[in-house]
Amino acid sequence: MAKYLIVGGVAGGAGTAARLRRRDENAQIIMFERGQYISYANCGLPYYAGNVITERSRLFVMTPERFMESLNVEARVQSEVVFINRKAKTIHVKDLKNNTEYDERYDTLILSPGASPVRPPIPGIEHPGIYSLRSVSDIDHIKEKIDSPATKRAVVVGGGFIGLEMAENLKERGLEVSVVEALEQVMNIIDYDLAAEVQQHLRAKGVNLFLKDGVASFEDHGSIVSVRLSSGTLIDADIVILSIGVRPDTAFLKDSGIELVKNGAIKVDPFFTTNDPNIRAVGDAIEFASPLTKLSSTVPLAGPANKQARLCADAIIDGNKRPYGGTIATSIAKIFDMTVASTGLTEKGVKAAGLPYRTAVTHAGNHAGYYPNSRQLTLKILYHPQSGKLWGAQAVGYDGVDKRVDVISAFIGKEGNVYDLAEFEQAYAPPFSSAKDPVNMVGFIAVNTLEGFSDTISWDEAQKESNNGAFMLDVRSEEEYELGTIEGSVNIPHTELRQKLAMVPTDRLVILYCAIGLRGYLAERILRQNGYTKVRNLTGGFKTYDSAV
Ligand code: FAD
Repeated sequence: MAKYLIVGGVAGGAGTAARLRRRDENAQIIMFERGQYISYANCGLPYYAGNVITERSRLFVMTPERFMESLNVEARVQSEVVFINRKAKTIHVKDLKNNTEYDERYDTLILSPGASPVRPPIPGIEHPGIYSLRSVSDIDHIKEKIDSPATKRAVVVGGGFIGLEMAENLKERGLEVSVVEALEQVMNIIDYDLAAEVQQHLRAKGVNLFLKDGVASFEDHGSIVSVRLSSGTLIDADIVILSIGVRPDTAFLKDSGIELVKNGAIKVDPFFTTNDPNIRAVGDAIEFASPLTKLSSTVPLAGPANKQARLCADAIIDGNKRPYGGTIATSIAKIFDMTVASTGLTEKGVKAAGLPYRTAVTHAGNHAGYYPNSRQLTLKILYHPQSGKLWGAQAVGYDGVDKRVDVISAFIGKEGNVYDLAEFEQAYAPPFSSAKDPVNMVGFIAVNTLEGFSDTISWDEAQKESNNGAFMLDVRSEEEYELGTIEGSVNIPHTELRQKLAMVPTDRLVILYCAIGLRGYLAERILRQNGYTKVRNLTGGFKTYDSAV
């Protein structure tokens, strides 16, 4: 009878335990969890703080009792694994409840210790009003604090998805909320031009945003924490949520001889085996090569952790048959009324990997414009400029963002290209999409570029070229032009362009744009077929340019 020990009792740990049991009824399986709870919904914690999830019990997907009952897996909570003796094949466990210690032998050990919130040595960080969020007990403390009538102002440090989910939920609880972000944008999983739309939405919802301004120190004023920013700005808070990233929780492996990389992540092969053939690892704590860049990274997301758990258990039982291909970091977040999602690489990601790329952007209705309540979403893709291979996609909007990003994630996972997007066949009726879905539209833009029918230009390149003397041609209607345009632009509505060709110079780069890119493309085709060669159409049109600049 095989004996499996598992460190960590949430996503990766509990998932591996469950699959192991389903594959091997006779094995002895024991799962060790440092905290009080197993298999809880960490992803739901911000919504519990915001009273969206009202019953605390709903956070627990499983209890140790139910785990034993249904899976015959022993879950030992408040049991911290502090050391691994690889030679003896034992782990050393601290029973935190009874204050005792003991060794437990394994045949195979599976590590899923996750990642813990980063707390850098910023002066004043030990103030009790500064909270991090990882576990149920963290949210219990945070909730107790926000339930107090004296808690009126919150500062969230870090504009990633957990920070913004907390900002939303704190705001919904009636607090005044400020978000502090050291980078120039929130939501690093998308590019600046799309993040600008999210920032507008956050401001419209009354969140104070401090961008490109890190925390210099926290000042202790009794129950108030004053957050001093690098710019000198001082923000008073009754509660501070620190959400500036996570780091693999692997300190207990330091002297184990298990190979760790620089940030503490566990190095594994495609079967999740560490440098010790009897020890495997999954989840937030592992490092693995991206299938897109071939560069190793850690991806702290629940989807990959759960899928790795299943594959890891199968690899143990079947003897390494089905290798793991890596994650493309597909993720999504609700930010008030908006949805933000991304898959694969962003512009920062492709640049860091030194990959050639082009972008295409569309602003399209989530469903047919003539059917009620259609709302625009912004969809951007990154692709190889010659082959059209997809590198990444990102979207922001209200409805239908999730399905577009999920579809493109599936294509990227199968090494798809922009032709696949152009030909993608969606389930269509007016309440759900359009006969030409936004996924098709963004594919058409990229295919037109690849085939030489069009030459798109991104908002930042357009800005540079405009400063270098390009002829900026606004092909929207006169009324739209009057409401705002790119400085120095000439307005010729695309319907009048054929008659007014003489106004368009032939010896300068012409950058065309409309509201979202479609009329710009029509105008571009008119110019090209009239002999103009130096013409580029602003991808995403004035809407993208205006929100980014
Ligand atoms: P965890 O689920 O963190 O489990 C690790 C467990 O190991 C912990 O409970 C820890 O106490 C225990 N442990 C660590 N060391 C030891 C030790 N030495 N001995 C015993 N036990 C130990 N991901 C998404 O994809 N979508 C989301 O919407 C999302 N929202 C999130 C919201 C919040 C607030 C948080 C904190 C995370 C969110 N995540 C989300 C991330 C997701 O929860 C993680 O990617 C996932 O839980 C990772 O699984 P894991 O098993 O690697 O680690």
